[in-house]
Amino acid sequence: MTSDLDRVLAAVDALAGELVSFTADLIAIPTVNPPGEAYEPCARHIGDTLRGFGFETRYYTADGLPEHRPDYPRVNVVGVRRGRQARPCVHLNGHLDVVPAGDGWTVEPFGRTVRGDRIYGRGSADMKGGLAAAIFAAEAIRRAGVTLEGTVEVSATVDEESGGFAGVAWLARQGVLSSDRQDFVIIPEPFGIDRISVGHRGVYWSEVTTVGRTAHGSMPFFGINAVDAMAAVLTGIQHELAPALAARRTAMPVVPDGARAATLNVNGIRGGQADVAGQTPCVPDRCAAVLDRRFLPEESLTEVRAEIAGQVARALDGRHGVRHELRDLMIVEPVRTPDDSPVVTALAGAVREIAGRPAQLVASPGTYDQKHVKRIAGIDHCVAYGPGCLDLAHQPDEWVGIDDLVTSTKVLAAAVLQLAGGRR
Ligand SMILES: [Zn+2]
Repeated sequence: MTSDLDRVLAAVDALAGELVSFTADLIAIPTVNPPGEAYEPCARHIGDTLRGFGFETRYYTADGLPEHRPDYPRVNVVGVRRGRQARPCVHLNGHLDVVPAGDGWTVEPFGRTVRGDRIYGRGSADMKGGLAAAIFAAEAIRRAGVTLEGTVEVSATVDEESGGFAGVAWLARQGVLSSDRQDFVIIPEPFGIDRISVGHRGVYWSEVTTVGRTAHGSMPFFGINAVDAMAAVLTGIQHELAPALAARRTAMPVVPDGARAATLNVNGIRGGQADVAGQTPCVPDRCAAVLDRRFLPEESLTEVRAEIAGQVARALDGRHGVRHELRDLMIVEPVRTPDDSPVVTALAGAVREIAGRPAQLVASPGTYDQKHVKRIAGIDHCVAYGPGCLDLAHQPDEWVGIDDLVTSTKVLAAAVLQLAGGRR
């Protein structure tokens, strides 16, 4: 006797051609962020497809947020397909925005390039391939004639690449995503077909400014040079803080291995008249640097902040007349879904059965929308699982493998079937 799962997997194979051309169509809609191009046509195209696949769809615009503007509207779409009852509810979420193409491409970044076993283009891996896999996983269940006990939902949201405030965070604030409505959330970010991401490290972005006193550049001894002071701060970070962070390792399975340690990147520096056209012979009285500190679940934000403040103060100690300012720019706490969560178990079982190898539980060096699902929507059972290679994200000649796209669609369909329950 053929099981429901076998029928669903056969349905995925049968719709593979549609899956590939839908992915290519999504890539051809250049939803570049910044500034947030073509969000509305992309959301509409996904919404129309979902409606054709038996979903009730609704659009959610981020009204009142500054990034939602008439020229660049922030439009999210949510499709709901109820089974025999509302719960359990499995929600599949993907972001529809992509980062700018950048240089170095040998194929058209927003073309519909399918070559051999690969679909090329900006967003193919991160994460229009995953979004397509989510939509067609739900559709394969329907085409197999299987009715779910619970509900499957698919959303396509904006601005993940810039923090997700008008996207997943917005849906969560509107109550569209909430532990009152959904039980499980899967985000098909490109971790690869046998890796399940259970969470991510934390982020502490801050700005440190050194403040001195200006003077004529020909007589620098009358001033206090803020750039010199910043040089001392950065040297201290390089020689003291950076080695201390590198020695700190998390028990969370972050990949790649280098990201198991705490890290700090100096994202940018700005001082004096460097960015003013022409030159002025002045001693710079202000210099600001942006620090991007990624912290581990074993570290607390309070300690992380105090450590940077202490490092800056030490570096400037004894520099007469130099003041400094510290400002928080962005804070994201680390998140981690428990390894024994039903969403992990369902996906891991499906990976073993369909990809034929054990699933590896990993965590992400950077953040993604899981933070909003956990912190705002209050949904604990959230992971990322999707096709494509994380290393290709944001690179020229980004691609997703068609085999992987099909395999991950099967895995997602099997997991939805397991979590929401279904029968013919
Ligand atoms: Zn992504």
